[in-house]
Amino acid sequence: MKRFKIGIDLGGTKLLGVLVDSSYNILKKKKINIQKNNTLDKIIDEIASIYFELSHDLEIEKLGMAVPSSVQFESGIASFLPAYGWKNIPFGQLIKSKIGVEVNVDNDVNMATLAEFKLGAGIGVNSLYTFYPGTGIGGGYISNGKLIRGYNGTAGEIGHMVIDVNGVKCKCGQRGCLETIVSNAGFRRLLNESKNSSSLYNIDNITSDNIVEAWHSADLTVQNILKFQAEVLGIAIANVINITGVERILVGGQIYHLLKDELLPLVIETANDHAISNGMKNVDILLNKLGPEAPALGATLL
Ligand SMILES: [Zn+2]
Repeated sequence: MKRFKIGIDLGGTKLLGVLVDSSYNILKKKKINIQKNNTLDKIIDEIASIYFELSHDLEIEKLGMAVPSSVQFESGIASFLPAYGWKNIPFGQLIKSKIGVEVNVDNDVNMATLAEFKLGAGIGVNSLYTFYPGTGIGGGYISNGKLIRGYNGTAGEIGHMVIDVNGVKCKCGQRGCLETIVSNAGFRRLLNESKNSSSLYNIDNITSDNIVEAWHSADLTVQNILKFQAEVLGIAIANVINITGVERILVGGQIYHLLKDELLPLVIETANDHAISNGMKNVDILLNKLGPEAPALGATLL
């Protein structure tokens, strides 16, 4: 009996693979860093080599791939990978021809969402929506126990919900998208635009630890930016509740974990204030539980 599955997450700078048993326990992991300007052929070879290293002499049921792109799930074609500049890549077919087992391909944030739903902070509910602030802000949607991909595979792209029609230009070409505010890039922009002083002004690569330290040393500029981001996130959550009526919201991102007691109550309060009538009644807003393996783990659930 084939009891093992493999999931591989293609990120912008790394490939991370996991081997799981029938209870989705991670038995083995393999991570490799990806050099810049790699060709598609080279990446497919790397994926195959991770697969063969993890599978060794085990019989593998299938491979799930998480990729940073919207995906036509049935055909396994990834529409656009901004991190690589690639369009319409038939990952499913290309990988299957190298490894000889069935390959399913899906969006990385969708896969993290699926993993949380089945194995993490989503256990016990039938519907949820995730928000993952980071470089940008990704999201995923589970309804009636099923991952919602949408007609064109673009459901859950919460980062490009317009939150300020006169806002700054987003990399997608629109103005005022959620990720122009609630993201690392949004934080940097708001810091640069602030007229007040901050301990972080002269730091080039601001880390989460820098931000937390600034918060605790009463850096008012940083505190105000984080509070503003938390309020905007709360409004985005209220919008999602009004449209989907889900039972639970999950929030990821290092800052919300590190400043949970300071920021999460503000997110919850704002979501409650802006959701329609009883939309937020008995709806939890919780932090996500799974670590960086979540997309690869989710891919094993396909
Ligand atoms: Zn956008």
